[in-house]
Amino acid sequence: MDTPRFDAHTIVVGAGAAGLMAALTAARAGGDVLLVERTSDGGRKILISGGGRCNILPHVLRPERYVTDSSPNSLRKLLRAWPLSEQISFFEAELGMPLELEEETAKLFPSSHRARDVRDMLVRRFQEAGGRIWFDATVGGLRPEGDGWVVELDGAPSARAEKVVLATGGLSVPKTGSDGTGLRLVEALGHTLHPTYPALTPLVADPHPQAELAGISGPVSIMAPDTRPTFETHGGFLITHDGWSGPTVLDASHLAIRGRADGTRQELLVSWSSEDADSWDERLRGSNGTVRSVVSRHVSRRLAEWLIADAGADPATSLAQLKKSERRALVRSLTAWPMPWTGSAGYKKAEVTGGGVPLDQIHPRTMESRVRPGLYLCGEILDAFGPIGGHNFAWAWSTGRTAGMATQRGQGE
Ligand SMILES: Cc1cc2nc3c(=O)[nH]c(=O)nc-3n(C[C@H](O)[C@H](O)[C@H](O)COP(=O)(O)OP(=O)(O)OC[C@H]3O[C@@H](n4cnc5c(N)ncnc54)[C@H](O)[C@@H]3O)c2cc1C
Repeated sequence: MDTPRFDAHTIVVGAGAAGLMAALTAARAGGDVLLVERTSDGGRKILISGGGRCNILPHVLRPERYVTDSSPNSLRKLLRAWPLSEQISFFEAELGMPLELEEETAKLFPSSHRARDVRDMLVRRFQEAGGRIWFDATVGGLRPEGDGWVVELDGAPSARAEKVVLATGGLSVPKTGSDGTGLRLVEALGHTLHPTYPALTPLVADPHPQAELAGISGPVSIMAPDTRPTFETHGGFLITHDGWSGPTVLDASHLAIRGRADGTRQELLVSWSSEDADSWDERLRGSNGTVRSVVSRHVSRRLAEWLIADAGADPATSLAQLKKSERRALVRSLTAWPMPWTGSAGYKKAEVTGGGVPLDQIHPRTMESRVRPGLYLCGEILDAFGPIGGHNFAWAWSTGRTAGMATQRGQGE
């Protein structure tokens, strides 16, 4: 009896968000799909996402906030391939997973608030559609052979498929299974990469001037001067024992990290309240109370005292005695405090990887490689990431679905 030429028509490598969506889509389209995953259960980033609740999608998609070194138009095209409203109804109506909006952050979560439910449901639906999964299977090599692909597995016989979807992620949080192997595989196949860097990661300072304030959090704005268009973000901020974290810091971190790689320093200015410089100036010209009492109406008391002292003033000084130079310095500290970061927490804590496979190396309507026909790429391995708020899953779901569908249409461009 002849042995079948292929172990599956399509092999999807990586059971993260993008791979699960690609595999599910291909299997639901009737494909013979094998999902190969190095960890024992897959979807480990889904499990730790959104603090274990999985911020599955944003309420409003903001394509202009995605970051890429490739063409922003290509990026928008890829995002538009699966509009947000259709993604939402896919989860709710087709997969039976109701979503809930968190009003203050505009994030969508599964209504169970359990990230595990998202991962388990995607795996279950894939298996129900006839898909097979090999866990604890690490792909160490990938080569075209005849009219298909040989997928080399570490410590096990190779598998063969007509099409391969590579959804191996980037380099962030390597303990979840994504350690950059996929990037090395595509490079070996002739793709070039845009330089990779950790993004959406905390910033650190050594020495840390605000170490004594660790644990203080609150809403702030961060502005990056000299960026075009000017980068500004509003939201949560957390002072940590070695630096700063929270959504605003994560969202701004790539500017600091990329500046450093270029040998320049990107200044990040923190405004600690919703009051602008003119309002603070007017308030501090008043005559009632101490500087401390006025500032701590808008900023937590310990932080207020620290900022006042940092500006060279005494928190106990009455407003009437505050010198003009002190007032000016304090207004600057309150509205444009230059965060003295010296580095970042790196890939260990980065929610995503910046850089990767340039978007012009794939066909936007199919995610098929322009370098290697029959190879499809999706998710974080590509040169794009979005801001905090569900935008990175939106990218993984959309690019994964496009790749999964294309493997079954069997068409490049
Ligand atoms: C702490 C944290 C919280 C986050 N929270 C959110 C959030 O709430 N909302 C949001 O939108 N985004 C969030 N993100 C980002 C989001 O998780 C990622 O953008 C997304 O998971 C990327 O999906 P992916 O499938 O492309 O890659 P990954 O999730 O990294 O999946 C890649 C998969 O491939 C497997 N793999 C890698 N190499 C091989 C190999 N050689 N052989 C076999 N298998 C391999 C890995 O084990 C892994 O399962 C968060 C990220 C982190 C780290």
